[in-house]
Amino acid sequence: MAKRIIHWFRRDFRIADNTALLAAVTAAGSDGEVIPVYIASDWKGSHEWTGPARQEFLCGCLASLAKNLEAIGGRLIIRKGDAVVELEKLTAETGATAIFANRDPDPFGRAVEAQLEKMASDKGIGLSLHKDVCIHERDEVRTGQDTVFRVFTPYSKVWFGLPKPTPLPAPKRISTPGGIASLPLPKLSDWGLTPGAATLEPGERAARERLKPFVAGPMVTYGEQRDIPSLAGTSHLSQDLRFGLISPRQIYAAAKRFEEGLPPEGRKSTMKFLAEIVWREFYMQLLWHYPELLEQEFNPTWRGMEWPGLPGYPDAAEPFQHWCEGRTGFPIIDAAMRQLAATGWMHNRARMITAMFLTKDLHLDWRLGEAFFMRSLVDGEIASNNGGWQWSAGTGADAAPYFRIQNPWSQTKRYDPEGIYIRKWVPELRNVSNASLLEAPADGRPIAPGYPAPMLDHSTERDRTLDLFARHKASLTSG
Ligand SMILES: Cc1cc2nc3c(=O)[nH]c(=O)nc-3n(C[C@H](O)[C@H](O)[C@H](O)COP(=O)(O)OP(=O)(O)OC[C@H]3O[C@@H](n4cnc5c(N)ncnc54)[C@H](O)[C@@H]3O)c2cc1C
Repeated sequence: MAKRIIHWFRRDFRIADNTALLAAVTAAGSDGEVIPVYIASDWKGSHEWTGPARQEFLCGCLASLAKNLEAIGGRLIIRKGDAVVELEKLTAETGATAIFANRDPDPFGRAVEAQLEKMASDKGIGLSLHKDVCIHERDEVRTGQDTVFRVFTPYSKVWFGLPKPTPLPAPKRISTPGGIASLPLPKLSDWGLTPGAATLEPGERAARERLKPFVAGPMVTYGEQRDIPSLAGTSHLSQDLRFGLISPRQIYAAAKRFEEGLPPEGRKSTMKFLAEIVWREFYMQLLWHYPELLEQEFNPTWRGMEWPGLPGYPDAAEPFQHWCEGRTGFPIIDAAMRQLAATGWMHNRARMITAMFLTKDLHLDWRLGEAFFMRSLVDGEIASNNGGWQWSAGTGADAAPYFRIQNPWSQTKRYDPEGIYIRKWVPELRNVSNASLLEAPADGRPIAPGYPAPMLDHSTERDRTLDLFARHKASLTSG
């Protein structure tokens, strides 16, 4: 029998520059066979950390991957349930001698890998796990004292100084044995979900087609335009990185190739853009070394902090609901939350403003917002999301110190002075003057019919936040 190897697709739904897939094809040899498999999770109804937008995008990615595999002679097998149990069954059914997969850096992925390692060793099955999600993972970027970086800037200096791998080619041909049972491609209703947001086109080709015009256009002005939420000034590649439709190596290589012909100003922009790719890896390595970040504040000073909610609301869930639905009466917050609901994506500047509002104006626990974002975002990435939330709450690595609190009105003046972003997402405000989008209404009344008055006074809540943090700090020394 020909040598058979399983490639387990996890978050790497592409053929080109897929480290474990190419390794599996190479290991199988020219007469060997590769069994590409995806194992769908079998929860139903609701999930704490994912939702319809991301699951629907996932379905589209799998459909596209199945076609791409067919085009080179392969066939995507779909199974459902516990990944380790299913992989064991598939190995026994097919006589495969080894399982190949790319490592998943988050604590949940790692836990499955530990079980898989045990199963493979108990059953005498080969297991080959590869680095793929990052350019530099885990322990590759270390301080001079060989410790983990806890601060971004020195981490990024070392990151940029390391040699970069060249993207790998796609396998030319994959031969998958016939007769292997497969479920149909998953659909949203399998999880009991109905469509929500209108997301971007899924699949490897669509991701490549987002990258190409970005490096030739907005990347050059990324430094100036990345903070303006009404512009398409960023790459919009986060969901593609999340699902591995494109690899960070491909992005790095494309940016560097294009950079060569740029004047110094354009090169600065490229560096700024690539620094964001580094942020992603920085947060991944932090979570790798400190998995407890998902439970508690990175900065020990703020562990056990009280998040008492907004005074005046007997039902603590109500202000959270206003925030989730984009009904706070703060136009920039409401625009951002409605962009999220409509598209499953939110501009980075808007993520920061809304996250600060939840924690510093509504005094709600950042973990509530973290989970809501995970359920709503197509690009929901555990490490980046946790990092972004802890940064905004003032509790994280490189945290905005707790006393630096963004004022939603000043943020609007700076980043959406014409109200273009606001009017796009909050139709009730299409006909109001620019000025009324930039200041709290002096009389505290709604600025348009059907649109709520601001639910709080920012400067009062800002003071309350400062007081909450100061009291918590004082309690540590007095206690
Ligand atoms: C509260 C909060 C929550 C966030 N949650 C997520 C999340 O769940 N998933 C996610 O991918 N990003 C998250 N981010 C980071 C960032 O907002 C998004 O990556 C970015 O908006 C995606 O748009 P883009 O692809 O156009 O980014 P670009 O500006 O074009 O950046 C290119 C890539 O770099 C990475 N990146 C950019 N900014 C960051 C950052 N601050 N931290 C880590 N990686 C970054 C992303 O992979 C992104 O696709 C969060 C930020 C905040 C403040």
